[in-house]
Amino acid sequence: MLDADFFRRWMTATAASVDREAQRLTALDSPIGDADHGSNLQRGFTSVVNVLEKDAPDTPGAVLTLAGRQLISTVGGASGPLYGTLLRRTGKALGDAAEVSEEQFGDALRAGVDAVMALG
Ligand SMILES: [Mg+2]
Repeated sequence: MLDADFFRRWMTATAASVDREAQRLTALDSPIGDADHGSNLQRGFTSVVNVLEKDAPDTPGAVLTLAGRQLISTVGGASGPLYGTLLRRTGKALGDAAEVSEEQFGDALRAGVDAVMALG
């Protein structure tokens, strides 16, 4: 079973990946965008890690909902709403259970992806 701590560690690991790849993400954004994708995501995920440390939500759904809300309010352009919607909808679909199974997480992620597709 997956608990709130699992999802906090997922967000922390994602923030570390974004830090590692920020320059590459920005380079990829340069020919087609305004060369800020790496720095935008870096700001967003740093903020997610900070708010999760401060507020310490105690269910998987609350962790992802808070993370998604934070991305929407801190990441500019299209990526904030896209990543934020993915996490918020996934979190909402997980409900308020203290622990979820991998299958429940898979189903919730599907709901999140569907929401991103509808938005896109
Ligand atoms: Mg941009």
